Amino acid sequence: MERIVVLGGGESGCGSAVLARVKGFDVFLSDRGSIAPKYKSLLEQWNIPYEEETHTEEKILSADRIVKSPGIPDKAPMVQAAVKRGIPIISEIEFSAPYLTASTICITGSNGKTTTTTLTYEILKQAGVKVGLAGNIGESLALSVATNHYDWYVIELSSFQLDGCYTFRTDIGVLMNITPDHLDRYDYKLQNYIDSKFRILQNQRPEDRFIYCADDPLTIKNLPNHPLPMRVLPFSVKKEEGCAAVLHDGVICVSLDGKQVNVPAAEMKIKGIHNIYNAMAASLAALSAGVDPKSIEQTLRSFAGIEHRLEPCGTIDGVDYINDSKATNVDSVWYALESMTRPVVWIAGGTDKGNDYSQLYDLVKEKVKTLVCMGVDNSKLKTAFAGRIEHIVDTHSLDEAMTAARQYAQAGETVLLSPACASFDLFKNYEDRGRQFKAWVAAHKS
Ligand code: ADP
Repeated sequence: MERIVVLGGGESGCGSAVLARVKGFDVFLSDRGSIAPKYKSLLEQWNIPYEEETHTEEKILSADRIVKSPGIPDKAPMVQAAVKRGIPIISEIEFSAPYLTASTICITGSNGKTTTTTLTYEILKQAGVKVGLAGNIGESLALSVATNHYDWYVIELSSFQLDGCYTFRTDIGVLMNITPDHLDRYDYKLQNYIDSKFRILQNQRPEDRFIYCADDPLTIKNLPNHPLPMRVLPFSVKKEEGCAAVLHDGVICVSLDGKQVNVPAAEMKIKGIHNIYNAMAASLAALSAGVDPKSIEQTLRSFAGIEHRLEPCGTIDGVDYINDSKATNVDSVWYALESMTRPVVWIAGGTDKGNDYSQLYDLVKEKVKTLVCMGVDNSKLKTAFAGRIEHIVDTHSLDEAMTAARQYAQAGETVLLSPACASFDLFKNYEDRGRQFKAWVAAHKS
């Protein structure tokens, strides 16, 4: 019996282990850290042997195939040892793919994945399609494949999930954009990260679709390096020629094979150019999946966005507070600032991922009056904006940052938490940071 060893006992790893059990493999799961109680009970419920806080070499290196969770870097010693032995290492998505009977829409990119994935899923669901949501969002694809049956899946894929994909193919692939991110996992080589993102179109056939942003320089630059047998559907807000989705006089116009979706951007609840891109990509994916245009238009109008992405969370003394805690890189902050219509007190900082802040200088000059730095070490942020913003405040906790932001913000202005950094210096994760921000606002509302 083929032995599958799963490395990592989180959502992805435990899902893979369950699928391996359901498909009759000899399965073992190993996590070098501790496994959360909910995942332990899942493993126990499915009678899956596992270990935590250790990696036992002979139990792992006896595998025929290893399914590696996306959080584990290639450099991890156990992964290196498996590579040396010649054991194939695949991702959860690659492992699940042969068991998929549903058609798939797979969405990747540096920014906008979760929003576009959720919006596409909502469009299909509202249209009555039997659709599942999986990947980097909610339930793992493997667990869903093991326990559900759908006609379609909308799947969010990170570059880490794409890395271990070789035979995997999607019916409809969406690449939102590529901007430098996670370079620590790619030997600090941008090209490695770009190549990983482009795995979204690998193995596609003429009847498949590839949806991409024609305004994204790195996508356009790298497109000629890939064979494109599939049907390509570019979207753009800057040009109309050759694009399947365009912005015409403020109206999002999407057309495919004579079917048309037309929605004025101002009529959507989600705001900003980035959300116009997200709406275009979701509409093209949904039209490709055969959803009726009227139904797409309805959901584009009603979709209210998701937590921690430019989420309005209340007003104190005439000042609006917006939680964009998920903005963990510079590019996403650019789009957040671009969408601001009032003067901004900007809260930023955290664990720097090799950020280059210069692309924000013009927008910051136009919109930001105060920068509240919130992190253990704010020196890089302070140096980057010294002399470019009227007030720069140094804080080292959420409470300190919020007190300062409140002090500097005047009625008619906006306090925006859009950190450009990871959250791990002061918070558990970006959700924790966003929730603490919201809790502070709720506690201080009059
Ligand atoms: P991801 O899942 O790729 O991290 P999200 O949909 O969660 O993307 O959005 C994260 C942040 O990125 C948002 O808070 C917003 O500021 C920004 N963003 C969303 N969509 C886009 C886009 N299409 N292009 C650039 N930035 C975006």
